[in-house]
Amino acid sequence: MSRPVKVLMVEDSADDAKLELRALRRGGFEPTHRRVQTAADFTKTLAEDAWDAVISDFAMPGFTGLDALRIFRSTGLDIPFILVSGTIGEETAVDAMKAGASDYVMKSNLSRLAPALERELKETQTRADNRIAQKALKESDLLFRQMADNIRDVFFLIDADSHRILYASPAYEEMWGRSREILYQDPDAWNASIHPDDRASASESYREGVAAGNFQIEHRIVRPDGTIRSMEVRGFPVHDEAGRIARVAGIVTDITKRTQSDERIRRLNHVHAMLSGINALVVRVRDRDELFKEACRISVEQGHFQMAWMGIVDQSNGAVVPAASAGMPDDLFALIRQHYSRAEGPLPDSSHVATAMLDSKPTFCNDIQDASGWYFNARLTTLATRSFAVLPLVIADEVVGVFKLFAQETGFFDEEEMKLLTQLASDIAYAIDHIDKQARLDYLAYYDILTRLANRKLFLERLAQYKRSAVIGGHKLALYLMDLERFKNINDSLGRSAGDILLRQVAQWLTLHTGDANLLARVGPDQFAMVLPSVKGGEDTARHLEATIKKFLEHPFHLNDVVLRVAVKVGVALFPDDGTSADVLFRNAEAALKKAKASGDRYLFYAQKMTDAVSGRLTLENHLRQALDHGEFVLHYQPKVNLATGKLTSAEALIRWNDPRTGLVPPGRFIPILEETGLIHEVGRWALRKAIEDYLRWRALGLPAVRIAVNVSAMQLRNRAFIDEIKQVISIDPDAPAGLELEITESLIMEDVKHNISSLAAIRALGVTIAIDDFGTGFSSLSHLSKLPVDTLKIDRSFVIEMTTGPQGLALVSTVIGLAHALKLKVVAEGVETEEQSRILQLLSCDEMQGFLFSKPVPVDIFEAKFLAPAPRQDPQIALVA
Ligand code: C2E
Ligand code: CA
Ligand code: CA
Repeated sequence: MSRPVKVLMVEDSADDAKLELRALRRGGFEPTHRRVQTAADFTKTLAEDAWDAVISDFAMPGFTGLDALRIFRSTGLDIPFILVSGTIGEETAVDAMKAGASDYVMKSNLSRLAPALERELKETQTRADNRIAQKALKESDLLFRQMADNIRDVFFLIDADSHRILYASPAYEEMWGRSREILYQDPDAWNASIHPDDRASASESYREGVAAGNFQIEHRIVRPDGTIRSMEVRGFPVHDEAGRIARVAGIVTDITKRTQSDERIRRLNHVHAMLSGINALVVRVRDRDELFKEACRISVEQGHFQMAWMGIVDQSNGAVVPAASAGMPDDLFALIRQHYSRAEGPLPDSSHVATAMLDSKPTFCNDIQDASGWYFNARLTTLATRSFAVLPLVIADEVVGVFKLFAQETGFFDEEEMKLLTQLASDIAYAIDHIDKQARLDYLAYYDILTRLANRKLFLERLAQYKRSAVIGGHKLALYLMDLERFKNINDSLGRSAGDILLRQVAQWLTLHTGDANLLARVGPDQFAMVLPSVKGGEDTARHLEATIKKFLEHPFHLNDVVLRVAVKVGVALFPDDGTSADVLFRNAEAALKKAKASGDRYLFYAQKMTDAVSGRLTLENHLRQALDHGEFVLHYQPKVNLATGKLTSAEALIRWNDPRTGLVPPGRFIPILEETGLIHEVGRWALRKAIEDYLRWRALGLPAVRIAVNVSAMQLRNRAFIDEIKQVISIDPDAPAGLELEITESLIMEDVKHNISSLAAIRALGVTIAIDDFGTGFSSLSHLSKLPVDTLKIDRSFVIEMTTGPQGLALVSTVIGLAHALKLKVVAEGVETEEQSRILQLLSCDEMQGFLFSKPVPVDIFEAKFLAPAPRQDPQIALVA
């Protein structure tokens, strides 16, 4: 295929031109041409068209090939210019080439023309291409520079081996706040500006990325002014011809804004989470303390605040009372509490809190360094706290609390954040209000407004609680329901308000009396309930109740200048006897009260049996009290006789109660009650006095007065004043001590041997003798016996009985007698009823005996007449008294 070519021919010979065109055609061209012969023509034609090549004859008349070449060169055209010559030699050809011809072809060898043109065209083309490429290159270079200069990102080029920065675009200076000169000079400058915390990971990512073919790293830099910016660095390795990594190129984008907004979004998300956490809390929480504690906790855990505390405003003096905290070291919270508890009120240092409260508006401090002189700065700095916000909690235009939040970042609080936190504060305030209202409702639901005592509902809850602890403690519980008598009359005659005052005074009295309002309730218009959380049983309860009723009745209530005494009726239920649930117990106490109101009884137990038993016992108690006043106690005397001689040696005084209703009551029936009620002291004193009185009277009458043994109860002996009492009763007469012996049971002496030894010694020093009563039942050790300061040992009746029923009994009594004698003690056998017993005792050398065999205990006049009267008697040994 022939190739078209437009040729401008400078040729004076048309034939030669034809030959040349033919040569071109032969060489594969399809030439179109114009032929010129003059300089002017050439110049003109050259400019007229876009020629592919010029073929010029070397020698023409008046116009040479070199002239043409000169003209051609002046145009600057870059197309082949081939000289064709028939004559000239080599030297001229060299000149022509020097002058700029593309080639030189001899007319004798035109077959070279086509290949020469072809080669030159190709070279021209190459040059043209290069020119374009050059131009493009120039343009792109310009573009790069413009970009590098104008784009805010930093382009960089690093030498892969030396890590020297080869190029960094001007944006570096703005982004880093440093000059590029230093960067180019100091190979470490780039790295040094990376945030210390990010340095290691950045350089590792860089190394890995270069090896892998590209990298993308985020790290922070620290600018000379201390500000921190976040950078994203992307880049790739640049290879040289040999395929080695020669350079690393990349671009750095300042993503500070982006990360800041990421951070902000995260933070706002936290606050949102906190908001929803607190909203959930508001719905469920029932109690202020819990609300405060939880709100602080949620702020730290979900809101990601460093610390939080919340305080309540004491409406009486406007002081802030920090109530809960979270995320905060105990010592700091203690410090804060202390700070706000100062009597002078909030200090100027706490101005943020003060301002927030004053303006009822949130405030914040985005850098505590700015709030210099602030009270807790030093401590907060150690905790790396940087900012805080104070949110007043406002209910109905009144600041009821403050919520303070701390963060470790500066500039933490902005408008949007504060908006959310304000919302949060109003939610919390709402919750406080809600809880307060609820609490008021609860108060109404659980308390009696008039007396401020618990109502029936709350009381039943408490009763159930006391019941549970009674079960655990294994004790009983008593419930009283008390009804004021004639309350309706008081209301009617003195007015309702007087009735209210009375009810309040009754509540006060009961509270004072029980010492604990939690044990009380107002359960009806004029009815009160009281629980005794731990009682021993019915008697214990009845005693307490009787005392209470009595004291209550004695109390003067003052109502509008009227002094009133109010009686009550009481129904009593015991747990577990009268019901195992609080409800049942209460209902049964109500039933008992109803019955008591209908009857003449002051109080009734729910269980009739209990009432009976208790009342029997209590009547007995009351009767015994009266017995003392009315002189219903008497002493009977039982003689003791010498076993060998059968002569009267002494007497034991045995108390009896001459109950006008029932007759003579034996001591076994009432001594325990005297001991429980403490009456034993008085009765015991009476017995001592009476015995001495009788003894002295016998002496005064000239009768053969014998020592009288008086029984001493445990309660008396334990009484510190007992020795003084003895001293007092014998002080009436110097002869009195000789008439007195004290019988103290073995078991009682053994209770506190050491103390008793000294007491007994003191008593004996007064001239009063001492007998160990009921010996053998107290398991005293013999070593003790030897130390006891006593005179007489009374062998218990049970051994006297056993003495004749088995060999062991006999051996025992024999041993005891032997031992007592070894210790120089007199031995008396008690309860001797038979001759056999008496005989054996005599054989065993027992000193004395006492018992029905000789005489029962008898009234004093009979004792005097029978055993002391000087009248001659037949045989006293067998004078049994019926
Ligand atoms: P006790 O000191 O062991 O008194 C002896 C008891 O045995 C007396 O009972 C007496 O009547 C009874 N008795 C005497 N001989 C015989 C007998 O042959 N056979 C039988 N079966 N019994 C005999 P009593 O008078 O009922 O007194 C009982 C207890 O009451 C006394 O036991 C004593 O512990 C106490 N007691 C009596 N009077 C007083 C007193 O004034 N003060 C104190 N604290 N206790 C007293
Ligand atoms: Ca006795
Ligand atoms: Ca006895």
